[in-house]
Amino acid sequence: MAKIKKLLVANRGEIALRIMRSAREMGIKTVAVYSDADRNALHVRFADEAVYIGQSPSVESYLRMEKITEAARKTQADAIHPGYGFLSENEDFARHVEESGFIFVGPSAQSIEVMGSKLAAKEAVSRFNVPLVPGTSEPITDLVSAKKIAREIGYPILIKASAGGGGKGMRIVDREEQFEEQMERAVSEATSAFGDGSVFIEKYVTQPRHIEFQIFGDQHGNVIHFFERECSIQRRHQKVIEEAPSSVLTSELRQSMGEAAINVAKSCGYYGAGTVEFILDENLNFYFLEMNTRLQVEHPVTEMITGIDLVKLQIQIAEGEPLPFKQEDLSIQGHAVEVRVYAEDPANNFLPDIGTLKTYNRPQGNGIRVDDGFEQGMSIPFYYDPMIAKLICHAETRELAIEKTIRAIDEYEITGLETTLGFCKYVLHHDAFRSGNFDTKFVEKFFKPESLSTSPLHAEELIASALSVVEYGKNTANHQEPVELKTISKWRKNRL
Ligand code: ADP
Ligand code: ADP
Ligand code: MG
Repeated sequence: MAKIKKLLVANRGEIALRIMRSAREMGIKTVAVYSDADRNALHVRFADEAVYIGQSPSVESYLRMEKITEAARKTQADAIHPGYGFLSENEDFARHVEESGFIFVGPSAQSIEVMGSKLAAKEAVSRFNVPLVPGTSEPITDLVSAKKIAREIGYPILIKASAGGGGKGMRIVDREEQFEEQMERAVSEATSAFGDGSVFIEKYVTQPRHIEFQIFGDQHGNVIHFFERECSIQRRHQKVIEEAPSSVLTSELRQSMGEAAINVAKSCGYYGAGTVEFILDENLNFYFLEMNTRLQVEHPVTEMITGIDLVKLQIQIAEGEPLPFKQEDLSIQGHAVEVRVYAEDPANNFLPDIGTLKTYNRPQGNGIRVDDGFEQGMSIPFYYDPMIAKLICHAETRELAIEKTIRAIDEYEITGLETTLGFCKYVLHHDAFRSGNFDTKFVEKFFKPESLSTSPLHAEELIASALSVVEYGKNTANHQEPVELKTISKWRKNRL
């Protein structure tokens, strides 16, 4: 068993800080890496050492494997944590890290490879009695047979990129007439975003809820789960509000979904932290969607209800320790809600609204946690994901956790750019959310830009932010959904 003494975090922003904090509590030294845009970033200041790895676009810095291992060698780090996004789900990176003589704080390259392809993942789990969404198990090659399958499954169907992630490369098809066009779009989106145009068909589950299970495996074959997270409040197939536990799961359903999640992990010999995503239909049937082989953005809600530091556990597992508890040792304590604070304008189709944090004051108090990577006066770089912070609130019951989150949102002061805070408050007040009776269509069904009263911006600020969005679209190929230029020009017209 190799104790980690110095950890390099191959990431930036809130997640880099969050990982370093746990490492420091464990007596582990930390190394940051940074690009030009992040010279003054908080993760750089927090780390014991920091190494410059290149220019701002992530292909020039945070995605350069050799630069990262070179930085680890130079600082004599013994392990590398990839965080989320960037290289975290890249099997070549995991292999490169290990072949360079460092511990990779994550699963094996082989598990990442299997689960990185949605089709390979389905194939692997199908032998483990895990329910799958009806659909094709092979990439679509010819249109005629694909249409035939779609007809058998029944419309609406979803065309999905096998290599997809972050909500990209997905197209809903309501009628056969649209099939060809949507398929072409899905293939071209998948090719440009993931370099792999393989797409497949899934039944589109109407009224779907997104429920995922946090799992953990060790290198000795043990796997347990840390209950579920409800992540149905999404825009562009990406989450904005998450909570744990879910208000729809009975303890029986929790148990059977938990067992299925453990089987998914076992199907690929998984160790480390992972998330098994399911879709739940209106009759509470669940189906496996995919597995994310990394720490998830929303992991803090699980930490709040279990009292366990998941990053510390990741480090212990990477050191070769066995899981320190059994399934029956774990229980759910209270309820936690996370809202993601993005530099986006909900009144304008959630387009990024990059700028400077003129005012930035975090909420405080019992049961409130803010994970962020910025301070007042800092700018949100347009090269990366525009998430400013995650606000996580914990209380005894769902109702109290919601009330606490609303109070914290009211206390959160951010000026200089638009954020998702007002939108999140709107959701938290909404009857559908309150009743627990909602699905992934919440935004479509209940949210209109008029639902919010936005503060008018200055003309120069409008021009500056519109220009930065154009730049942002050019530079974010790998870490965020690229903003389509078509949408931008429409957006600029509306705003200017
Ligand atoms: P989670 O599933 O953890 O809630 P998201 O789906 O929002 O999170 O993705 C987490 C981060 O990883 C985001 O920064 C997102 O842009 C990025 N991401 C997710 N999948 C991919 C991918 N396949 N390629 C590039 N970036 C990705
Ligand atoms: P990604 O890798 O982009 O995260 P997922 O397969 O996890 O892709 O799907 C992302 C989101 O898209 C889900 O959370 C859900 O809201 C929606 N989705 C995916 N598959 C289906 C489906 N078959 N029916 C309905 N909604 C779906
Ligand atoms: Mg997903």
